Amino acid sequence: MSLVADIFESTKAIIKGMAVTLSKIPQEKWTVQYPDDPVTMQPRYRGMHLLHVDELGREKCVACFLCAAACPSDCIYIVAADDPRAPEERTGVDERFAEVYNIDYGRCIFCGFCVEACPKDAITHGYNFELSVYSRADLLKTKDDLLITKQQQSSNYRVAFSEEDVDSEYKEV
Ligand code: SF4
Ligand code: SF4
Repeated sequence: MSLVADIFESTKAIIKGMAVTLSKIPQEKWTVQYPDDPVTMQPRYRGMHLLHVDELGREKCVACFLCAAACPSDCIYIVAADDPRAPEERTGVDERFAEVYNIDYGRCIFCGFCVEACPKDAITHGYNFELSVYSRADLLKTKDDLLITKQQQSSNYRVAFSEEDVDSEYKEV
């Protein structure tokens, strides 16, 4: 290619690129000034897990290990224990409960297989995405971190109502 043709093609490419850039300037902006402004999470977002309790506050997990078996990353660690006390005094809904329930977020790929596998609806994904830490060891979350009764909702995000269409620009209408 001659030098003139080279310059012509390069100029054409720059003009084409700038035209796309300029056409976007008048459009609505999607940048969020996080964490000054809360991020809007989609209802089906998979964040840090929640371990659920029943209406009496008893842990729903019966330590059946199905979630750990379904996990492709092998990042769930459970130690089962028996709680022979009367049902109203137990830690969980059943005699058997998870004495230890850890998830290593250094390995978790947020695939949701554990949630699908659970027969007791004991584990779901929450919305917490703020999992950055300085030490890899801190990515290991224990039952105390995961129980829904112990987690605190961060003010840095909100969850979109299902009728809200916050990412409509990416959806086919
Ligand atoms: S979301 Fe996937 S990778 Fe993470 S703990 Fe559950 S099954 Fe394992
Ligand atoms: S979270 Fe669900 S699947 Fe996992 S051990 Fe507990 S009851 Fe079983």
